[in-house]
Amino acid sequence: MTKTVTDVICPFCGTLCDDLEVVVSDDGKELLEVYNACAIGAEKFLHSQAKDRLTRPRMRQEDGSWKEISYEEAIEYTAQMLADATKPLMYGWSSTNCEAQSVGSEIGEYVGAVMDNTATVCHGTSLIAVQDIGIPSCTLGEVKNRADRIVFWGCNPAHAHPRHMSRYSIFPRGFFTGKGHTGRKMVVVDPRVTDTARIADVHLQIEQGRDYELLDALRVAFKGEQLPDVVAGIAKEKIYEVAETLKSGRFTIIFFGMGVTQSLGKNHNIDAAIAVTRDLNEYTKAAIMPMRGHYNVTGSGQVWGWQFGFPFAVDLSRGFARYNPGETTSNDLLRRGEVDAIFVLGSDPGAHFPFSSVKKIYDLPSVAVEPHETPTTEVCKVHVPVAFVGVEVGGCAYRMDNVPIETRKVVEPPEGMMTDEEFLRHVLARVKEIKGV
Ligand code: SF4
Repeated sequence: MTKTVTDVICPFCGTLCDDLEVVVSDDGKELLEVYNACAIGAEKFLHSQAKDRLTRPRMRQEDGSWKEISYEEAIEYTAQMLADATKPLMYGWSSTNCEAQSVGSEIGEYVGAVMDNTATVCHGTSLIAVQDIGIPSCTLGEVKNRADRIVFWGCNPAHAHPRHMSRYSIFPRGFFTGKGHTGRKMVVVDPRVTDTARIADVHLQIEQGRDYELLDALRVAFKGEQLPDVVAGIAKEKIYEVAETLKSGRFTIIFFGMGVTQSLGKNHNIDAAIAVTRDLNEYTKAAIMPMRGHYNVTGSGQVWGWQFGFPFAVDLSRGFARYNPGETTSNDLLRRGEVDAIFVLGSDPGAHFPFSSVKKIYDLPSVAVEPHETPTTEVCKVHVPVAFVGVEVGGCAYRMDNVPIETRKVVEPPEGMMTDEEFLRHVLARVKEIKGV
């Protein structure tokens, strides 16, 4: 016998699709089928059933091999490591729920950690730009129901957010967008001919790293003023044409990704993109939204914004919250050798950080809390497998448009396995004992 759980939230990307159906065994112990998810979302659910999945913590031995340890031993190692460190780095937090993020922040306060999340290598620059000049944004529901001019700048949702276009931005029929994609104009700005660019009405194949110039050129074109013949590899006629397309819509939305946040200009590119959006509001309704990657990276910015006033790179080592990207960001701290222990939860810096930073992680006392075996777990001293959030435990996550959504538990975790939040609560209690508070 089986049962079907409906309205399940997908805990993979920032789209947080909320219409999945999952078939589980009657006793809730086995996950059998996943419907409505894209391939990467379905794989996240099915991976929880892997027969070779680790279910107990393990510690690296002198000879490089692993030895299984108990959760109690892992809690003790983690608490001692964090309490003994002068300035530990607590990194990740994007693939877990807000409840775990909140407990992690409390530990960070007691041990004087630097708290940083994956925004540090993706949309941190967007957050800096928002602090510079604000952001006129909206929800994905408004996009679905109102937007008829869609821009994807430096992002490739066809691969990174596979259901974004079908659920919200291009194909769905909304309240004021009854013709679906035929009533929308789609503009893609990307140096590569991506699968997203292939289905666009207009593809501006910009020269690599010239985003700031093209954004500024659009602002000039909105006003009908003179442009050079070519800007960032795009002929001026094309720029005027796109400017008119965007001005003539009823609602323009600009989605942007790491192709523009992490290319030359960084946060200044996003300043300019927000200024383009602001200018467009003189002619029509316009909004802008970052394409957030991990399913709850937005949530960690929310939790820390609420607790510390800053969304990433929060240095608590002086007993109060400091924030100075470039100084208090993970890679800068690691490369300068300023942290003496590292705790990673809900991310994979081993796969995404530069080799020089990964080498530092390898050299330091380190703990990775992570359901999978990843490049990060391979360089850490202790690996603590935990239940999958959104599959084996619920909790709050924030979609890319800052809408909080309650994820659902659909299947039991392996017997005796802790969740992120449970593990962190035990570490917090032990840290308080060690610190005598
Ligand atoms: S688009 Fe993202 S949230 Fe939706 S099913 Fe795919 S991975 Fe999951």
